[in-house]
Amino acid sequence: MGSVIYGPVPSWRLGRSLGIDLLSTRGKTCSFDCLYCQLGRTVHPLAQRREFVPLARLVSELERIGPVQADYATFSGVGEPTLAGNLGDAIDTARRILRLPIAVLTNSSLMPDEGVRRDLARADMVVVKLDAPAEDMFRLVNRPTGPYSLDEILKGIKLFRGQGKGLLALQMMFIRENRGCAALMAKLAEDISPDEVQINTPLRECAVAPLPPEELAAIKDEFRRLGAVVTAYEARRPRVTPLNAAETLRRRPGEGPQEKGEGKWKHGPQH
Ligand code: SF4
Repeated sequence: MGSVIYGPVPSWRLGRSLGIDLLSTRGKTCSFDCLYCQLGRTVHPLAQRREFVPLARLVSELERIGPVQADYATFSGVGEPTLAGNLGDAIDTARRILRLPIAVLTNSSLMPDEGVRRDLARADMVVVKLDAPAEDMFRLVNRPTGPYSLDEILKGIKLFRGQGKGLLALQMMFIRENRGCAALMAKLAEDISPDEVQINTPLRECAVAPLPPEELAAIKDEFRRLGAVVTAYEARRPRVTPLNAAETLRRRPGEGPQEKGEGKWKHGPQH
């Protein structure tokens, strides 16, 4: 049985980020199967929440690792973390034991669910993903594995914006398919009014190519009416050494030291 905890990894959004994978399944468990996912195809398509890792196991792993130098503990991993039905209690548990602020990276699929929004409201920072301004582009880029509607997802995000006490970041991944949608996406971002917009392109190894820096800069220009906007090419990534390289590589394939030694971890921005 592998570990639920991985990293810390250098995150362009969160600094030194200790990963918690509350799914910890062998293959990817997700409600989407995004064109750009670096974890390969979705092995376990799931639309319903359930418990994957019991809280008792999380507690014993967190207590075993002791104090960790990190800026955030982040719920992410091999799939969509809000599918874990015990996410809310796990957030409080991790904060209490680690004494770190808690972040969650979500693909937003379950934002229409009031229970999910309640769980996410317990985090210090939530990063919600939106890659499309309309249903057809949503289906093309995110390839939802269940009956998700972009319209309902947007309503859920806006409700959460009004409820959550922590920071809300909006992450948008741009690839060849949706690069013409930047103006519409900027309008969506204005409607949501997040604390930060993260404009992304897949820098980690995956099935699609990233957009070049000049194209991402032009996309950023469309977001000029929003306050804090950062692109994947501008962000600084701290140097870190994971506690357990094998567990970290399982969640971030295609990364890791290229040569012997520390600090060689490359960090891409994908979910
Ligand atoms: S990128 Fe994230 S949301 Fe998309 S398929 Fe991969 S794990 Fe799921």
